[in-house]
Amino acid sequence: MASRDPVADLRRIAFLLERANEATYRVKAFRSAAATVAALDGQELATRAAAGTLAELAGIGDVTARCVTESLAGEEPVYLRRLLATEGTDLEGAAGKLREALRGDCHAHSDWSDGGSPIEEMALAAVELGHEYLVLTDHSPRLTVANGLTPARLRRQLDHVARLNDALPEGFRILTGIEVDILEDGALDQEDELLGRLDVVVGSVHSKLRDESPRMTKRMLAAIANPHLDILGHMTGRKVAAAGEGDKGHRAGRTRPPSTFDLDKVIAACLEHGKAIEVNCRPDRLDPPKRMLTVAVEAGCLFSIDTDAHAPGQLDWLRFGCERAALCGVPAERVVNTWTIGQLLGWTASHGEIPDA
Ligand SMILES: [Zn+2]
Ligand SMILES: [Zn+2]
Repeated sequence: MASRDPVADLRRIAFLLERANEATYRVKAFRSAAATVAALDGQELATRAAAGTLAELAGIGDVTARCVTESLAGEEPVYLRRLLATEGTDLEGAAGKLREALRGDCHAHSDWSDGGSPIEEMALAAVELGHEYLVLTDHSPRLTVANGLTPARLRRQLDHVARLNDALPEGFRILTGIEVDILEDGALDQEDELLGRLDVVVGSVHSKLRDESPRMTKRMLAAIANPHLDILGHMTGRKVAAAGEGDKGHRAGRTRPPSTFDLDKVIAACLEHGKAIEVNCRPDRLDPPKRMLTVAVEAGCLFSIDTDAHAPGQLDWLRFGCERAALCGVPAERVVNTWTIGQLLGWTASHGEIPDA
């Protein structure tokens, strides 16, 4: 039997584990094994597999060694086969159509801030998913717990992304971006000049989430009116227990109620300034809640269905957002990431100037 590519098999397993929201250490085992195997020459790999000494290498354990051995023997690793057997079913009807219409993702993190993988890994996973673009939106300076990027680091990242784009396949592009903190006074946590250079700006509230409604409303309105902001990220900041976590999540304090603000005013501001409301796909966020999403749909808002992925496999979480968006009647043509790169960038650039009064 012809041998398979053990690196591809290990990476596929890592992707499926991430998508299933499995513990990081399990994913890491497969990603580091893939890196170790990729760095090894073919002869040594074959010799070690035959002698059963793969697990002596740093980064490879018994489980990953077995996968590599099976792969080299031309068999689909048992571990991979089991994961594929438990994969979710296809999206149905309207949700499926919406998912098919999506051309990219406008909210994703790399290991430059609090993501788990390098930008290139994220980009390659996006290519495999058939995306035309991935907007890289690492955190801004004040979010130190998430290793937010200072202006200097963001400038370095922009250079790095430009180089990566030269090497990536035709028909795919990493778009530059940021998930910028909406500060307590509604200002955005990054230099104006930099915000102006980025392709897409997602603005999110990450602090003082319990502010009383008038204060929170004012803060959000100021951010939405800022010409640099394109997409309002996870608008209520709520955390829900991820599927399967149930009561355990609540007890462990991983949940958080939605923040309170004047929804009508926020929606009116998004309409006035042509900004999009994010449908955040993370199973532990699912933000905004359905009743708010429905109000925004009826008001005629723009949306962006984004994964907020912190690992490559999480880029496939678009399905969760599509299910909710379809349930609430979000029309595909009002979802900015169903648009072509040209349309998307035309839209974000049009906020660059403060419109004439
Ligand atoms: Zn966020
Ligand atoms: Zn994020």
